[in-house]
Amino acid sequence: MTDRQLLLFSAGLDSFPAWHYLGQPPALYVDIRHRYRAPELQAIAALADRCGINLTISTELDLSAWHGDDVIIPMRNVFLAMIASRHADAIWCIGVKGDHTLDKSPDAFEQMSQSLSSFAGRPITIASPFWDMTKTDIVAWYLAQGLPADNLLLTFSCTESGNASVHCGTCPSCLRRWIALANNNITTAEFASPPWQWHRVTDYYLPAMRAGRYPEHRAAELVSALATVGIRP
Ligand SMILES: [Zn+2]
Repeated sequence: MTDRQLLLFSAGLDSFPAWHYLGQPPALYVDIRHRYRAPELQAIAALADRCGINLTISTELDLSAWHGDDVIIPMRNVFLAMIASRHADAIWCIGVKGDHTLDKSPDAFEQMSQSLSSFAGRPITIASPFWDMTKTDIVAWYLAQGLPADNLLLTFSCTESGNASVHCGTCPSCLRRWIALANNNITTAEFASPPWQWHRVTDYYLPAMRAGRYPEHRAAELVSALATVGIRP
C-alpha cells in the first residue's frame, strides 16, 4: 500500500518551504551517498526534529560512482522518482522556475510520470508545485506565512562543502541561496566566503547576463541581491 503523496526532501531552501506549501506531507530523503550527504543529513535531522517532519531516510541506492568531475549525478531525479514510487503514487520533486536540466523540467517530469505509470502498472505522478516561482518567490511565500526565518537557515544548499556543514559561498548553489535570502532581507545566513565576492559573479554571471545568456528573472534577482551589499553592476 502506498501513501497518497510523498515529498522528495533534500533539506534545501526549496524542499523545506515546499513541505509547508504542500500541507506537511510525508517526506523521503534518499541517501544516494553523494559528496555532500553529511551536512545534508545533519540538516534534515535538525529540521525533522524542530518541525516534526514525518521523514523516511532511504538507503536503497548508492550512486556515489555516478559522480562526474562536477557534482552532477546524471538522471539523479529519475532514480529518486523510481525509489519514491515504491512509497507513493503522487510524488513531489521540487523544481523551480527556470530549472531546465535534462531530468528536472516540467516536460521531464511529465515523461517520468508516463514511464513510471506504465512500468509500475498504476498511475504515478511526478510534479513540482514551484515551476512558476523562483527561489526568491519561494522564500517570500514562506516568510509571508509567518513561518520562522531561523528554521529556513537550518536548511542546507551547498554542494562543495565536503563534510563540513558550513556553506562555502563559492558554488552556484550557495550563490542562489544567498540571492534568495538577500532579496528577502535575511542577512544572517552564514557563508565561509561572501557569495557576492565569488569571482564567478564578475567573471561569468554578470557578463552572461549582459550578453542576454542568463534568464531575465534570474538576472534581475542577482542585480537586486547585489544592491543589498552596495554593488551596482
Ligand atoms: Zn557552496
